[in-house]
Amino acid sequence: MGTLDELAARLRAVCEVLTDRQQLRTYECDGLAHYRVVPAMVVFPHSAEECAAVVRECVAAGVPYVARGSGTGLSGGALPHAEGVLIVTSQMRAILAVAPEDERAVVEPGVINLDVSRAARPHGYYYAPDPSSQQICSIGGNLAENSGGAHCLKYGFTTNHVTGAQLVTPDGDLVRLGGRAPDPPGYDLLGAFVGSEGTLGIATEVTLRLVRLPEAVRTLLAAFAGTDQAGAATSAIIAAGVVPAAVEMMDALAIEAAEAAVHCGYPDGAGAVLIVELDGPGAEVDAQFTEVERHCRDNGAFEIRIAADDTERALFWKGRKSAFAAVGRISPDYIVQDGVIPRTALPEVLRRIAALSAERGVRVANVFHAGDGNLHPLVLFDDAVDGQAERAEEVSTAILELCVEYGGSITGEHGVGMDKARYMPRMFTDADLDTMQLVRCAFDPRGLANPGKVFPTPRLCGEVPGRRKGTHPLQEAGLAEVF
Ligand SMILES: Cc1cc2nc3c(=O)[nH]c(=O)nc-3n(C[C@H](O)[C@H](O)[C@H](O)COP(=O)(O)OP(=O)(O)OC[C@H]3O[C@@H](n4cnc5c(N)ncnc54)[C@H](O)[C@@H]3O)c2cc1C
Repeated sequence: MGTLDELAARLRAVCEVLTDRQQLRTYECDGLAHYRVVPAMVVFPHSAEECAAVVRECVAAGVPYVARGSGTGLSGGALPHAEGVLIVTSQMRAILAVAPEDERAVVEPGVINLDVSRAARPHGYYYAPDPSSQQICSIGGNLAENSGGAHCLKYGFTTNHVTGAQLVTPDGDLVRLGGRAPDPPGYDLLGAFVGSEGTLGIATEVTLRLVRLPEAVRTLLAAFAGTDQAGAATSAIIAAGVVPAAVEMMDALAIEAAEAAVHCGYPDGAGAVLIVELDGPGAEVDAQFTEVERHCRDNGAFEIRIAADDTERALFWKGRKSAFAAVGRISPDYIVQDGVIPRTALPEVLRRIAALSAERGVRVANVFHAGDGNLHPLVLFDDAVDGQAERAEEVSTAILELCVEYGGSITGEHGVGMDKARYMPRMFTDADLDTMQLVRCAFDPRGLANPGKVFPTPRLCGEVPGRRKGTHPLQEAGLAEVF
């Protein structure tokens, strides 16, 4: 019996285990389907204790493991390890508490994002971070990716809404970080854990901040000749001190795709549309709404529609929320890119993306969180046409380079995962990356938690046998120790 067979037998005493290759193929990729690895086995713990027992067995056998929530990640973060165990949290979907008096909810990691708001709504609350995948993605995945969404401009990302977590450490211990009360003393280990993409442990319970449902919500759709004007309107609104709940932009190609898919009826001839949503006390929303309308008109909006009711508001959002999938209607293949730039650089960067697209003959549709400067260029190609996939990849990489050039980042909200590990050196020096890996090693000296993700060249602690060549500057200074 090999190590993996022995491990499977031991794990069967803990929870359900899949080892049938056909069944394992269901889990071979996440939302980034061009990376595929069939795991050695998949397990489905029902509780924190079962999850900890699984990790302990993996550690004892020296076998790597990867956590998976709903598998909607777009950076290959939940890509399995061929010789490893995939730990799926889909059997851990209990909402353990909704405590409006503390403005908190306590949930298991497999709980679907939107279900938190559904549970909180009768109490007059909701969960603010709203990734477009919120109908299916899990809170554990959101925490691991520090996910964002349209309304994170005003309310902040996942990290601003997680006040506590129970996790299984890479040693297999169950520990708690934070809790219902804000701001515990000491190092912000919870802050390090949020966004760690499954490399520092597995969340088994998460305490979330709930936000009061706003008294009023008003949404407008403004049509512009192009992205220059829409970008300028976005900057003008924020510069005026208005913080909308959301400012989303779609360019002409994204609008074309959305129209083909969901017939959202956006204004004819728009080269770009902005969806601006304000929420809060009624009087404040009314005053700010007038200001937003003015900035849109001053920056060239040729048509402004104001949602008369929830049905019209939903229609405005339908085009935006369907846009990623809708692009499939106008192109057989596409890359969903994710980068960030300072908001004020939007017009210039969008112009440079258009120039890149024209130069290389690759179409790019833009649909994104304009308020945050979080771009989502969709780079279209046809894999059946020789050379198109390569050209699309080149354009996609060049867009990330632009983000870095303008002082932004190689990912806004989809994480680094497997896909973007290779781009990390474009943002960080070797010393920066080594310092980050020292943090990883402090949590996971064996390097068994989601290995091969986030870092391009594992040189410290256990990710690959052997040690980094040369000494890290922090080691030389006597400030850090390599395990
Ligand atoms: C159509 C579409 C739209 C999207 N829109 C957005 C968006 O607007 N904003 C946004 O931020 N993202 C978006 N995403 C990306 C994705 O939905 C998010 O990253 C989401 O948080 C992933 O959740 P998941 O449960 O699917 O996680 P998975 O894909 O299963 O896993 C993601 C990462 O989290 C780790 N992980 C999972 N569970 C745990 C756990 N319990 N403990 C520790 N680590 C864990 C995994 O190892 C992996 O590294 C979108 C994806 C799609 C397909």
